[in-house]
This record gives sequence, structure tokens and C-alpha cells, in this order.
Amino acid sequence: MHQKDSRQWDSAVRARARQKTRALATNDARWRALRERVLQDEPLCRQCTQAGRLRAASVVDHVNGNATDNSPSNLQPLCISCHAAKTAREDGGFGNPTRRPGR
Ligand SMILES: [Zn+2]
Repeated sequence: MHQKDSRQWDSAVRARARQKTRALATNDARWRALRERVLQDEPLCRQCTQAGRLRAASVVDHVNGNATDNSPSNLQPLCISCHAAKTAREDGGFGNPTRRPGR
């Protein structure tokens, strides 16, 4: 019980910390429009396509990990699992070495 609660709280705190570094919040109308445009232009996950898999993208990722850089060349469509893997790699040095499978 305790462990699960604290893990949820922990990830909520981290999510908030991540939001602060973004140029546009994820719930911002401009970001949503930008995200829609990227997914419309390129509806398939870019990493899966490169690996020869066809999988629909559902998230828009910042290629260089810099969330304040919303230039088109820095935005790529990814599926949930590619994005989770990339985020886990990037967050690895941020006090969270544990992996979160399924997220
Ligand atoms: Zn993918």
C-alpha cells in the first residue's frame, strides 16, 4: 500500500518538474495544435518505421530532449513504447534508475 502510494506521488512530482522545463505545457492549446500537426504529417512512429515496423504514433517527442525547442526538426512522432523507452533512458540520470515497464 505505502509503496504504491509513494511511487505514484513520486511520479506526479517528476511529471510536474518536467512540465516546468517545457516551452509550452502539454495542455496548452498551441502545443496540442503543434502535436496534432506532427501526427498528421507523420502518423507512424518514426523509430518503429526505421526498425521496419509499422506502428501508429501517439506521442510527439522532442528529438534532442530539449522540451523548450519546439522547432519542427526537433519534433518526432513516436508510439507509446518507443517514447517510454526513450524517456526512461533520458530520466535514468535523474535519480530514477528503476525501470517502469508498461509505461
Ligand atoms: Zn515505436
